Amino acid sequence: MSILPQHHHLQHADATTGHHHHHRNRRVYCTATPPNTRPKLQKLVANTTPVITQPKLDVDPSLKSTWLHRAWLATGSTTVVLSLANSIIGSIDSHIWLEPVLSGFAGYLFSDLATGIYHWGIDNYGDASTPLIGAQCDMALGHHKWPWKITKRQVANNLHLLAGGVTFTMLPINLIYHDQPVVMGFLGVASGCVMFSQQFHAWAHGTKSKLPPIVVALQDAGVILSPSHHVGHHTPPYKNYCIVSGVWDRFLDKHRVYEALEMAVFRKFGLRPRSWSEPDDDCMVEAEASPP
Ligand SMILES: [Zn+2]
Ligand SMILES: [Zn+2]
Repeated sequence: MSILPQHHHLQHADATTGHHHHHRNRRVYCTATPPNTRPKLQKLVANTTPVITQPKLDVDPSLKSTWLHRAWLATGSTTVVLSLANSIIGSIDSHIWLEPVLSGFAGYLFSDLATGIYHWGIDNYGDASTPLIGAQCDMALGHHKWPWKITKRQVANNLHLLAGGVTFTMLPINLIYHDQPVVMGFLGVASGCVMFSQQFHAWAHGTKSKLPPIVVALQDAGVILSPSHHVGHHTPPYKNYCIVSGVWDRFLDKHRVYEALEMAVFRKFGLRPRSWSEPDDDCMVEAEASPP
């Protein structure tokens, strides 16, 4: 059995620190493994220090849902249901159906774009000290160091920050536009997809055999984010920021939208995005996504 180059890397990382690691997420493959079944190794962005210590999975309380997380998820979900109910009630009252359905579909498409731009923003400019969204920035940065961790995060823990954002923005809008079925259809579906985008994201890091078959079917159909698409966010050139379906990623990449936004931010505020720095070569972990 010969040792692949990446194994030298991992051994080296161990030797330099003397740390004992859990290797459950870093399987070592011998050359007897057919190359096409071997998951790709991923290089991660934006780390200035090698990330070689992984927290223990079973005891990490930061991944558990608290009652406060669940309360936020319940509030956010109620807000989304309220918007959708307003849309349906308004449609019944005014006897229009096509427009609310189309606006709901537009809301679904829009949510993917919104998560892409937002994700690009927090990945490139935010950190734990950012006002209002610091916790989310911190979570996003941690996700690039330990992508597999999102699969261990409990649902309400994973969604509560977006659920809080949806509650604060959508409740007032619900009060104002409750009798506008088209507006409510668009915003109800869009806010629902944004709120659950972190769940779609978590599923995109999951193992196919452990996911509910309906989730795998939706991923395969491209309705929600698929592992094979999202792996592009964790490998060079680290694009594919969208996390609802990923349908916008090709367009955003082709038209260099993020590059244009980064230049605009740099010219206006003098801020350099993280994507302009060289990714750290020392940091490599195995893809969580199941091999194709
Ligand atoms: Zn990211
Ligand atoms: Zn990810």
